[in-house]
Amino acid sequence: MKVCKFGGTSMATAASIRQVQDIIQSDPSRKFVVVSAPGKRFKGDAKITDLLYAAFNEKKSLGTAKNALSEIKSRFDALIKDLGLDLDISPYIEDIETNLALSPDFAASRGEYLAGIVVAEVLGFKFVDAGEIIKFKHDGGFDAESTNDLVAELKSITTGVVIPGFYGRLPDKSIKTFSRGGSDITGAIIARGIDAEIYENWTDVNGFMVTDPTVIENPKQITALTYEELRELSYMGASVLHPDSIFPLKGKGISINIRNTFAPEHPGTLILKDASDFDRPIITGIAGKTGNTTITLKKSMMNTELGFGRRVLSVLERNGLSFEHIPTGIDTMSVVLDNSLNEQLEKKIVDEIRGKVNPDTIEVIHNLALIAIVGHGMANTMGIAAKIFTALFHAGVNIRMIDQGSSEMNIIVGVEEHDYKKSITAIYHTFFKE
Ligand code: ASP
Repeated sequence: MKVCKFGGTSMATAASIRQVQDIIQSDPSRKFVVVSAPGKRFKGDAKITDLLYAAFNEKKSLGTAKNALSEIKSRFDALIKDLGLDLDISPYIEDIETNLALSPDFAASRGEYLAGIVVAEVLGFKFVDAGEIIKFKHDGGFDAESTNDLVAELKSITTGVVIPGFYGRLPDKSIKTFSRGGSDITGAIIARGIDAEIYENWTDVNGFMVTDPTVIENPKQITALTYEELRELSYMGASVLHPDSIFPLKGKGISINIRNTFAPEHPGTLILKDASDFDRPIITGIAGKTGNTTITLKKSMMNTELGFGRRVLSVLERNGLSFEHIPTGIDTMSVVLDNSLNEQLEKKIVDEIRGKVNPDTIEVIHNLALIAIVGHGMANTMGIAAKIFTALFHAGVNIRMIDQGSSEMNIIVGVEEHDYKKSITAIYHTFFKE
């Protein structure tokens, strides 16, 4: 059995839903369908999920949500009409209006809920409400055990199932959503629960590209990569798939196939436990992140000072901050944070670190961009770092920081933000010459 998750653009118009129908009907093992809420139909259009959040806010501030809800209703009415379905969405919209103020999570979840009802009707599959099978614990954490048992029961439904993505239920029956883009996680949970042969994640691109297409025009495609490589790349900004989608699948080794609803013949990108059967380039991808904050400390004889690192990190912990990387030297230590620090907090942290470890100097750098070069083959191939640094040298980029993960699967370089695009371009052309 295959689990197929369709994203917002696949749900956006009657024509795209027809594409979905063709994809499902072209393969009888595609029996489990997970859907997102309808997304943008064109540039500048609103996503249904955003309209639902707007409806929640409208209701809170004005006591009614007529404006946003009527827009949502007309979007669904048009879909139903264009698909030629005999379905009246009005009672569902009334129910949403009645319960809208319950929580933003309830409001947001209704886009997937309605899309699920529509798609089940189109396919003639059974609609299963995610609230009945995706469970969270009292503390809000995902309840994998109960969920797996409930999802496993779906295996007995042979006619096909449609499940809305993005949400589940807490023990008190209220709705809780995953973070944005979370229908990907639902798809992964279903794939795990039914022991799927593969998790197909259908979107509007042909899979992962080697690097950011806003930096490199038409970059090469990644054919296959491992869960770990994906984790590194998506953490650093590659955003085709929600990064948390990997966790449910890893233990069972279920592969993910990113596919394009609008180019169904394209094989897409495979994400696997082990990609050694594939003939792959040494570098899998280049991803980057701007807007980081780096705190750099220098102190003579730092290497002999017991507990130095712990004391620095304890300051961050007390202030509720997690660090991204800690590149170190003998007498230097940098802590890279994502840029969530306001001026006041930054000053507090600097003062506290001074008090704890009395460094010779402490400097806060705001304009550092991080670029991760990720690749399975790096650990056993000589000269990768040399090539990266030579490329940056020739491009006239000053490297401010270097960090090689202990997995030896990535090298991260920190460069000034104004050198970001130039750096990615130089590294890309070094490893991916035409
Ligand atoms: N509809 C939700 C969002 O826009 C979840 C999803 O599409 O995966 O974030």
